[in-house]
Amino acid sequence: YTGKEPEEILTTKIRNILVRDVQSLPILIKEDTSIYEAIVKMFLEDVGTLYAIDDKRDLVGVISRKDLLKGTMGKSDIEKTPVSVIMTRKPHITTCYPNDLLIYAANQLIEKQIDSIPVIDKEDGQEVVIGRITKTNITRVFVNLME
Ligand code: ADP
Repeated sequence: YTGKEPEEILTTKIRNILVRDVQSLPILIKEDTSIYEAIVKMFLEDVGTLYAIDDKRDLVGVISRKDLLKGTMGKSDIEKTPVSVIMTRKPHITTCYPNDLLIYAANQLIEKQIDSIPVIDKEDGQEVVIGRITKTNITRVFVNLME
């Protein structure tokens, strides 16, 4: 007997979950990808957010469903206009690291009112996207803990 209440055990469990324990694979596109191609990619990969990278593989943008909707509303030719025109750019991108606590990432999702956070790994000066944390990931953790 640990002397702990069941709630305490559950709380401790939740507090110890790391981003890398639950992250899923990121879907990456080049920043010069057209809005049209990005929409196709989003459907094919069945994700709600795409991450844009530059030639050095550095993260340069986040593209959400609403960003793409907005991109289709103007006069622009979506087959010619790159996602770089509509994406959320650095330094406005919220990121996290594999060793961050999941509860930290979850808090960021709520505070910044976003659906996903790219997980970044620093590889010799480069910021490579290695995963993503989404509301779905966190819901799955919640369900697993209860089962
Ligand atoms: P949607 O716009 O489809 O509801 P989000 O709520 O995730 O999806 O996105 C809202 C806005 O926040 C969009 O403009 C998007 O580019 C931006 N955004 C999404 N994720 C991030 C992030 N991790 N960091 C910064 N901005 C983000």
